[in-house]
Amino acid sequence: MIGFKLTPKNRYSVSKLYPIIGGKLFKNFNEIMEHIKNGKLNILIYSFTSLQRDKIAKEIEIINKIKKEKKSTHPILIAGGPHPSGAPNDTLKIGFDYVIVGEGEITLPKIISKLNQNKELNNKIIMGEPINDLDEFDKINPMTPVEITRGCPHKCGFCQTPQIFGNKVRHRSIDNILKSINPNSDVRLITPNAFCYGSETGTKPNIEKLELLLKKLREGKGKLFFGTFPSEVRPEFIQKDTIELVAKYCHNKYLHFGAQSGSDEMLKLIRRGHTVNDVLNGVDLCKDYNLIPKVDFIFGFPNENEFHRKESMELLNYIIKKGGKVHAHYFMPLVGTNFEGSSPTPLDKKTLKTLGQLSQKGLVSGSWSYQRDVQNIQ
Ligand code: SF4
Repeated sequence: MIGFKLTPKNRYSVSKLYPIIGGKLFKNFNEIMEHIKNGKLNILIYSFTSLQRDKIAKEIEIINKIKKEKKSTHPILIAGGPHPSGAPNDTLKIGFDYVIVGEGEITLPKIISKLNQNKELNNKIIMGEPINDLDEFDKINPMTPVEITRGCPHKCGFCQTPQIFGNKVRHRSIDNILKSINPNSDVRLITPNAFCYGSETGTKPNIEKLELLLKKLREGKGKLFFGTFPSEVRPEFIQKDTIELVAKYCHNKYLHFGAQSGSDEMLKLIRRGHTVNDVLNGVDLCKDYNLIPKVDFIFGFPNENEFHRKESMELLNYIIKKGGKVHAHYFMPLVGTNFEGSSPTPLDKKTLKTLGQLSQKGLVSGSWSYQRDVQNIQ
């Protein structure tokens, strides 16, 4: 039997692989242990982020101890996802047998087929073969949002997406998207930047394709959400002709986009590829079209100084004054990114106090406080 460890954080990745591979989804570790003790599990697959790394490492240690006691090589442990892709050697050190770096849909079935034939794999770290045509993989779990675009041409220094999926954008066709959604349910979509749908390079909107997609999706009976959870848009893509489409076809209350910093100097340092003005323009356009801007910020970038932070707080206050909300993160040096190995800058007391007060009022949400705690930042 093949099993996937399912967590609240990996359900979107597992939902892409499970329809191709099949097997059993394990929601808890005890269930996995029962299957291992009964000798029923041949292959076990994990997908996880760096935040989950230590918890997963403990589970793998327990599994490997049992394997040793039983003098068994099963279950064979395979890992993929953000942490294994960014830190494959660390993932092997944790105790996994094989690591897939990048995309798994083509490579994982090949690995499983070889392992099922008791064939040895040449390498422990295997580069995932990227999918050129997303339509080829139309076996999608109908309970999860449909991935309409994969890959990102931008190179934000803190982000793992280009490391996992590359810089080349690939779009699922409209026909295939329509085939993959349930026309009687609400529609939510996965993409790094919803407004780049249909654009060959992913660097500017393709209004014609966007409108056709939304028009077709709107024919369903459910509500249509675009540019909001679980996806977002880039601020420089918020223009009159893109936001007009959301207002015309979608049911969103919010438009979700990333500012990350209120300082143009910091935006350059983190290679965001947009300016503070793009964010201000996006906020103002949201107001004009009765959408609530929900804007991502990251605090504590390496080399962030008081001046950068003051500019971020000014932008944050502007967004709130305009009726928007802020989604705040504390910088984490994720593996495989430009900032891997760097240290977050501690925040001053005044910023922490303001973020805390705004969180209590429901104006700031996000994991900034948890991310600060897990990194032991004073
Ligand atoms: S943060 Fe968004 S735009 Fe930047 S690289 Fe990641 S996915 Fe692309």
